[in-house]
Amino acid sequence: MSNKVLVLPGDGIGPEIVGEAVKVLECLRQDHGLRVELEQGLIGGAGYDAAGKPLPDETLRLARASDAVLLGAVGGPKYDTLDRPLRPERGLLAIRSELELFGNLRPAILYPQLASASSLKPDVVSGLDILIVRELTGGIYFGEPRGIRTLDNGERQGYNTLVYRESEIERIGRLAFETARKRDQRLCSVDKANVLEVTELWREVMTGLSADYPDVELSHMYVDNAAMQLVRAPKQFDVIVTTNMFGDILSDCAAMLTGSIGMLPSASLDKDSRGMYEPIHGSAPDIAGQGVANPLATILSVAMMLRYSLNEPALAEKVEAAVGQVLDQGLRTPDIHTPDTRKVGTVEMGDAVVAALRS
Ligand code: NAD
Repeated sequence: MSNKVLVLPGDGIGPEIVGEAVKVLECLRQDHGLRVELEQGLIGGAGYDAAGKPLPDETLRLARASDAVLLGAVGGPKYDTLDRPLRPERGLLAIRSELELFGNLRPAILYPQLASASSLKPDVVSGLDILIVRELTGGIYFGEPRGIRTLDNGERQGYNTLVYRESEIERIGRLAFETARKRDQRLCSVDKANVLEVTELWREVMTGLSADYPDVELSHMYVDNAAMQLVRAPKQFDVIVTTNMFGDILSDCAAMLTGSIGMLPSASLDKDSRGMYEPIHGSAPDIAGQGVANPLATILSVAMMLRYSLNEPALAEKVEAAVGQVLDQGLRTPDIHTPDTRKVGTVEMGDAVVAALRS
């Protein structure tokens, strides 16, 4: 039976980078026996322009009927003045929450060919391979009540609520333990249990779960220390599991250790491993339409899709190896270009990955 993949290019550079990732999927279908059916949909600003909301009903219907979603990016200056519920980013939050994609997997891998792209010393980051598991549908980004209110004295007060139920902590914990099991079997749970009761509970639940995963070594770290350790000695980590907001911040920090935001994929999974796959970067309006965006993060997101939702680990490795091969050939989009390498555009980079897959 064919897997259904919904393709949502989104805004800005989204259509350009997703176009290259689709070429990779088509090549796998034609030459490597991948059984996949692709459909296209609208999200973000593109959804707003066509249907008046950032997550059109039709897109949600198609997403629910799919095994996986491949997303480019959403957002752009043109939409920044819309009412909040209509803004492109709300479409993204809505699809994650509607599909119950509670587990966000964000690898930070430093390809040896790009060691000089990091702002940290090569010996601190070379060979870096960490994975951040971020809780994605709970915590302070979704907690109620929230808002801005006017107090009796006329002063305005902004407020959000940080809440986690035990079951929410347990399901992200299990995903993290299972993921660590397939890697170096080390899991670091990041919290702020010295100050926040909600993460005191987080720590308690993680500790309780560790009895079911005796092969995984569990440690705990406060988030402020984790931020420091990520830039001091990042290779000490294998898998990190943390809350929605802490994960948002730490995963961007980890991404920058690798030097290019254009290289990093992500997966967001539900309890049955259906998922949405997207590069970690945004819609890069500053370079949209110029044909210079790096498509590798999106192509590597296809690799994650093959591994986690389409059950094709061998094809995932093929795609990752093809990316390694084009880097070995010295091809670089402007964001990762150095004087000793060859500068190429989005399409040329995508074509080179397809050629490597065919070779
Ligand atoms: P951004 O990630 O879009 O861009 C940051 C910088 O990185 C820019 O200089 C950009 O040119 C560069 N960059 C990003 N992706 C690149 C790629 N593939 N190749 C080469 N260079 C790349 O972040 P931003 O500028 O803060 O946000 C721009 C828009 O994207 C905003 O509307 C924001 O809300 C949205 N956004 C969307 C997502 C998403 O869709 N998941 C994530 C972050 C930001």
